[in-house]
Amino acid sequence: MENLTPMMRQYLDLKELYKDCILFFRLGDFYEMFFEDAITASKELEITLTGRDCGLKERAPMCGVPYHSADSYIAKLIDRGYKVAICEQIEDPSAAKGIVKRDVVRIITPGTVIDPHLLQEKENNYIMAIYCSKEGIGVSFGDISTGEMRTTEFFGPKAPCSLLDEIAKISPREIIFNSLTYLDHPLESEIVAVVNTNLYLFDAWAFEKDYAQKKIKDHFHLLALDGLGLADKELSVAATGALLEYLQQTQKNSLKHIHQVRYYTIEQFMILDKFTRRNLELTETIRDKSKKGSLLWVMDKTNTAMGARMLRRWIEEPLQDVASIQSRLDAVEELKVNLLAREDLKELLGQVYDLERLVARISYGNANGRDLISLKLSLEVLPEIRKILSNLSTSRLKNILDHIDPLEEVRNLIDEAIVDDPPLTIKEGGIIKDSYHPEIASLREAITNGKSWIASLESKERQLTGIKSLKISYNKVFGYFIEVTKSNLSAVPQHYMRKQTLANAERYITPELKEVESRILGAEEKIVELEYQVFIQIREEIGKHTKKIQDTATALAALDVLVSFAEISDKFGYTKPVITEKEEIHIINGRHPVVERTMPLGMFVANDTLLDCNENRFAIITGPNMAGKSTYMRQVALIVLMAQIGCFVPADKAAIGIVDRIFTRVGASDDLSQGQSTFMVEMSELANILNNATRKSLIILDEIGRGTSTYDGLSIAWAVVEHISNYENIGARTLFATHYHELTELEGILDGVKNYCISVKEHGDDIIFLRKIIRGGADQSYGIQVAKLAGISETVIHRAKQILEDLEAHDINRSKPTLWKKKHPEKNSQEQQLDLFTYQYEGVINALKKVDIMNMTPMEAMNCLYKLINMMKN
Ligand code: ADP
Repeated sequence: MENLTPMMRQYLDLKELYKDCILFFRLGDFYEMFFEDAITASKELEITLTGRDCGLKERAPMCGVPYHSADSYIAKLIDRGYKVAICEQIEDPSAAKGIVKRDVVRIITPGTVIDPHLLQEKENNYIMAIYCSKEGIGVSFGDISTGEMRTTEFFGPKAPCSLLDEIAKISPREIIFNSLTYLDHPLESEIVAVVNTNLYLFDAWAFEKDYAQKKIKDHFHLLALDGLGLADKELSVAATGALLEYLQQTQKNSLKHIHQVRYYTIEQFMILDKFTRRNLELTETIRDKSKKGSLLWVMDKTNTAMGARMLRRWIEEPLQDVASIQSRLDAVEELKVNLLAREDLKELLGQVYDLERLVARISYGNANGRDLISLKLSLEVLPEIRKILSNLSTSRLKNILDHIDPLEEVRNLIDEAIVDDPPLTIKEGGIIKDSYHPEIASLREAITNGKSWIASLESKERQLTGIKSLKISYNKVFGYFIEVTKSNLSAVPQHYMRKQTLANAERYITPELKEVESRILGAEEKIVELEYQVFIQIREEIGKHTKKIQDTATALAALDVLVSFAEISDKFGYTKPVITEKEEIHIINGRHPVVERTMPLGMFVANDTLLDCNENRFAIITGPNMAGKSTYMRQVALIVLMAQIGCFVPADKAAIGIVDRIFTRVGASDDLSQGQSTFMVEMSELANILNNATRKSLIILDEIGRGTSTYDGLSIAWAVVEHISNYENIGARTLFATHYHELTELEGILDGVKNYCISVKEHGDDIIFLRKIIRGGADQSYGIQVAKLAGISETVIHRAKQILEDLEAHDINRSKPTLWKKKHPEKNSQEQQLDLFTYQYEGVINALKKVDIMNMTPMEAMNCLYKLINMMKN
């Protein structure tokens, strides 16, 4: 090891500290990687692996990427779950004695990305800390690209379930944890099944109570945790403290822009489990995970990236508090009615840049001149936005107005100091206005004067020497020079000093020229340094306003979302729902917000809904495949959800009693990758519903029991209806689509159960879908007609009809649960069993009928019995 070159020793010392990262080691214009890192990175990034002498016998494996294009390589590594430690030269190489000092300036991990081109503009990039202890689970998460941070905690046996729901909602890119075992229950595989994330074990001491408390107090400059509402929230404190520790370790930055952590409880919001989020296609479709076709796609008419992110959050977190929902709805109404104000606001919001991320970059010390100009342009529209808002009267909009700070001092500062079109980098000058800084102005003047003196020198020297082709040029190696072609060399004056010989010209300098040149270069160097310093000061000055800018950004984001709600409500004909605490859902002419958008105007058939936790709490919906059952049930769920987000809804009228959770069990899931059968998945989703639903929940069940035999399936479905509809158990508002027509018998037997079907019209051999939901049960499945519509060949359809007739004649499918039997005493259970028996053992029965027992010897009777038993067995 003594033989190592000093640079390699420096490298290895640093690598020792950042073992879990790929170390990007800055050497000149490159980031180099060595040893194992080089082997990994060359494979992942598909770059050439070379070697470098390191003082040892073998050359060190090495690969590198140019520093100016490092971002895309870093992004690739982060995407694959690696952490990248950026090591820079931290002193000027020309001033360094011996080897240049280097240090890691930042660690980039999947959840701590801030560079705009590594981030999705309309999505947050969350990192989460999980603290598992015997008492419960603490969760804290944040987005350092915006400065948001929130925390909560869960207790008891349901804690893992709540954790998974939160993870599904937040979709963190990275999770750090002290342990992923809760009360002997390992959680890792379940987390991985919910979200594609990166899990890293983090130091246990960072989660410890005293350390975590101190970390939080230090960061937020507090003496006690009461101010954050965390005084008695030990689990939240552990997670938050550890998260702050991790962020500081990786970012090596004070993270001033994270100026608060908000405590919330999951009960504040409507709870949606991962199945429901997916089934309702809130932010992406099930099929191809695209935004198009999701609820977000319909609702997103936002004009800012901040608004788009907030909308996503609102959709993920519908409210439960009537007053808060009402205040959003009132604001939407006002903006819907006041078209003029809305149009103006849309226009103005369109001019606002991503303030949240701009201010994070400013606070981080990453913002350039263009970022400040974007900030200025955004702030310039604030007075007009404020003016419009001051003429509006609803409380939510008034509240938004109160939170929009005009930030004139920031705007004025940028306006006075920064040129309108600054360059991308802050190390080349050209950023600060002359009028802002006299010294910069006079240096610029010196440069301009010098340059114009040089420009005039050309004509002066041409005259003096009589060389018409004489010209003055500049290059980086020699600076300014006078160039004379070979044919004119005889006229070159004595005092010209030769500098360089070309094929057909000579280049000269003069002392006078050199002096002016050094004045220009000196001034240029000075000005670049000075402008940099001034820029940093201005950026820091603006950084002091971080909180105000963030508050303004949040207010603008909320305004943007409300304007977007008003816009879709107006454009798509939505109405204001009435929000109540009553347990009812009463919708007149409701429509599916997404499906109706994919159809020509007016083609979607609107339907009513009445669920009231009373006579009408459980709707059993029958009807053929393709009739529109799923669409109808999802439409009800989405209307409730939109209402609780505070948006108008696609209906003529809607009264929505607050729903605490929506559960969906829809179709066959494709979780087969996890080694579970479709039926197993279906049953575990069902178990989740039965265990967690309350009387305030809305349950959507589509085809329960399909994944198993008819008898099993029907029995389970039947028992589920009995259980859910019963107040003693759950009594939640439920929509249940089923193929088991037998279930329609339950109306009149079970309290609150009502039958509905989606009507179809027979047309000869075919059916026409009317899409209208009506009271009563469907009497036929029309499966064969639907198969025909789907394009199954005439031969198969014909044969299917024959089989159906045959089966119906044998009546194989008529084993009814007890209630049915009670209601139909004419067909007793023995008879039913006989039906079944008859069908399955027809051969044996026929053989038995033929036995002439009176004319048999005992031996023959034994043989016959033996044969019959074998027939049965086979
Ligand atoms: P089911 O669940 O009964 O098999 P779906 O709900 O999947 O049927 O509906 C099948 C198709 O019918 C949908 O893709 C949609 O295009 C159309 N559809 C459903 N409901 C309506 C409606 N109310 N108005 C117009 N078209 C509808």
